[in-house]
Amino acid sequence: MTVPLSMPNAGGGSAGYASKLLLPHWADIVKIIPEAEGVTTYHLRLTDPEVQARYRFQPGQFNMLYVPGYGEAAISMSSDLESNPGLVVHTIRHVGNVTKAISRMKVGDVVGLRGPFGTAWPLEQIRGKDVVIACGGIGLPPLRGALYHILRQRADYGKVTLLYGARTPKDLMYPDEYETWKQADIDVQVTVDRGDETWNGRIGVVPMWFYHFRVDPRKTAVLTCGPEIMMRFVIYEALARRIPTSQIFVSLERNMKCGQGACGHCQQGPFFICKDGPVFPFSAIESIFNVEEY
Ligand SMILES: Cc1cc2nc3c(=O)[nH]c(=O)nc-3n(C[C@H](O)[C@H](O)[C@H](O)COP(=O)(O)OP(=O)(O)OC[C@H]3O[C@@H](n4cnc5c(N)ncnc54)[C@H](O)[C@@H]3O)c2cc1C
Repeated sequence: MTVPLSMPNAGGGSAGYASKLLLPHWADIVKIIPEAEGVTTYHLRLTDPEVQARYRFQPGQFNMLYVPGYGEAAISMSSDLESNPGLVVHTIRHVGNVTKAISRMKVGDVVGLRGPFGTAWPLEQIRGKDVVIACGGIGLPPLRGALYHILRQRADYGKVTLLYGARTPKDLMYPDEYETWKQADIDVQVTVDRGDETWNGRIGVVPMWFYHFRVDPRKTAVLTCGPEIMMRFVIYEALARRIPTSQIFVSLERNMKCGQGACGHCQQGPFFICKDGPVFPFSAIESIFNVEEY
């Protein structure tokens, strides 16, 4: 896919405040890694080297990816800057207009990128604590950058447990990395809803695995991302173990448009999920957590 010449030149010096927030930067696709059926990882490099050099983000934040003629989609970074210097890494499930258009792209094609937006996982705040990372399906990519950070700073955290679930073994993401994570003293617990002839691991849902280990509620933090029903039960199990609501961190997925709290599309109660979130302490969003999007 080629970018029409009429496309805005993002980051142009004369752009005003509004256009700086709303105009995309262009990014080249430099690598494509198939992860699972319908899920692909893209390594992007911002076309303008100056913009790339300035570009900073933290695990948990997201970009708005733009495909001309199709629109934009919110996609989290699935790596961190230290692990992939000079690159922005996104893992994408191809579900609709924009993400299916991206699935047809090749190395050398260009996408628009606005960001980074939103809040990050509280990796400084939870330093010294035991960490339970509970995620399902496409909920692992937004947490992988946090995992990489913990791996590099392993001594700064206590016991770290990854509870990860997918529908089937073929839907598991980044399986080649689990061994490395285990060797770095991360307790990696992978489970699937339905096994197949290749699978001799665990079957069941993610929240169930809270029954298999003990947590010390005074020093445990939970980071969770995935289908809302899964997160609801993760929170339920965490609360049952008396982990304080302020130590449970949730990444909310809502339909987003501007990404910066201007359009109100993702407003829920007092929050713009794109700007005040997507990562919230559960203590802040308890009242809106079960409210459906409309
Ligand atoms: C902060 C944030 C981070 C995200 N990170 C990732 C990521 O790392 N990887 C990834 O694959 N996806 C991620 N998503 C989800 C992604 O933004 C949506 O799947 C997006 O709608 C895809 O755009 P599309 O144009 O391809 O699909 P669309 O054509 O917009 O829609 C596809 C289907 O999904 C429904 N839908 C659309 N948006 C949402 C939504 N936000 N929540 C629930 N249902 C929705 C639509 O109603 C439709 O049925 C993230 C979303 C948010 C808000």
